[in-house]
Amino acid sequence: MSTQEKVSMNENTRILFDKAADFLKIDDEIRTLLKNPYRELSVQIPVQLDNGKLKIFSGYRVQHSGLRGPSKGGIRFHQDVGIEEVRALAALMTWKCSIVDIPFGGAKGGVTCDPKKLSVTELEKVAKGYMSKIDLIIGPSRDIPAPDVNTNAQVMAWMMSEYGKKHGHTPAIITGKPIDLGGSLGREDATGRGCIYCVKEACKDYGIDIQNSTTVIQGFGNVGSRAARFVTEEGSKVIAVSDVEGGIYNSKGLDIKALYQHVGEYGSVVGFKGAEKITNEELLEIPCDVLIPAALEGVIYRNNAEKINTKLIVEGANGPVTIIADEILQQKGIPIVPDIVANAGGVIVSYFEWVQNLQQFRWDEDEINFKLKKRITKSYKDVYTFAKEHNITLRTAAFAIAIQRVVNVAKLRGWN
Ligand code: NAD
Repeated sequence: MSTQEKVSMNENTRILFDKAADFLKIDDEIRTLLKNPYRELSVQIPVQLDNGKLKIFSGYRVQHSGLRGPSKGGIRFHQDVGIEEVRALAALMTWKCSIVDIPFGGAKGGVTCDPKKLSVTELEKVAKGYMSKIDLIIGPSRDIPAPDVNTNAQVMAWMMSEYGKKHGHTPAIITGKPIDLGGSLGREDATGRGCIYCVKEACKDYGIDIQNSTTVIQGFGNVGSRAARFVTEEGSKVIAVSDVEGGIYNSKGLDIKALYQHVGEYGSVVGFKGAEKITNEELLEIPCDVLIPAALEGVIYRNNAEKINTKLIVEGANGPVTIIADEILQQKGIPIVPDIVANAGGVIVSYFEWVQNLQQFRWDEDEINFKLKKRITKSYKDVYTFAKEHNITLRTAAFAIAIQRVVNVAKLRGWN
């Protein structure tokens, strides 16, 4: 992102909130209630490292809202994690859970650490230490964590196990677990799959024939690689993809199956036969029908927004378009399906995981995919209809619907 345009994640979330709150004419006291977290916890996690030295890590859990149900949100392990960022991400979870109408509020957690510098034993100690410090404020009907940046099913398994020591075996305490420990089928594919359900609907609304369309995807990780696979199954031609090493382009379309094999072998999309090497910056400017940024935040910003040449953007990543770029793209007439809808597939299937754990019953994958499709498609349609009705962007419409739902329950509860 350009330095003149650096807006913190927290500020960004507040600007998006205010835009929708202005539209809804929400008064100041209610804004204060909804912009600030319900509860925050900061903890210290002392860990004896493999070399015998003691290291104290800082951890956070922010519960932004529990008005629509228990709070829900991931735990990230990263050297830059701080309370401000965790607050912003917790608020976003409230709006994401609300717009896809799952009975959760929003939360987020994090530990300030660089997992690449930790051994597996040290990582396990950090995960269990963190859980032992936050367990008092979480629970299957209070707050249910999940994986986020640099945490995975194994980390969730350690955390669930630690929680169980004090509270008894409780799979519903955390989602994104390994299948053998109560994880849900379909969770790994859910975000990419949900993203393409949104692409499919939006193509209909914006006059794009998906069968004869071209798609460009930034990022080839969990979300991007699945999005590439599922959009190809819908008949679209994926002409360019990228990862942290760079991008590849072929105007005739990439063979996604062969690309999976190449990435499995070499760890990157770069070097794939029959495609031209391009940079991540060039990738975003390739003329296409659908652009799916599925890597990082802030990649479409003031300096490149003017050069974006697509008919539709669907945000696989969180916050890939800055506030200023959003306005430029709006003037250019490029619709954007916002992250809180487009990448909500993961949290929807996390919700299914929690339900299955509470029922102590497993659904098969077809049932999960069917339920995911129904829910995310309805959310997208609600947002599109509302945006059209009020002549506002899909993003403002999504925030407005989500905020209104939370205001409604707050009122019903007597604001507490
Ligand atoms: P991931 O780590 O699996 O993949 C990230 C991809 O982005 C990788 O291909 C990586 O090489 C690439 N990348 C990293 N730095 C890059 C750079 N500087 N330029 C270009 N590409 C770069 O992550 P993911 O789970 O696929 O998440 C991607 C985005 O989607 C993130 O914003 C994440 O918050 C969001 N998201 C993910 C999920 C989920 O279920 N995984 C759910 C909701 C939102």
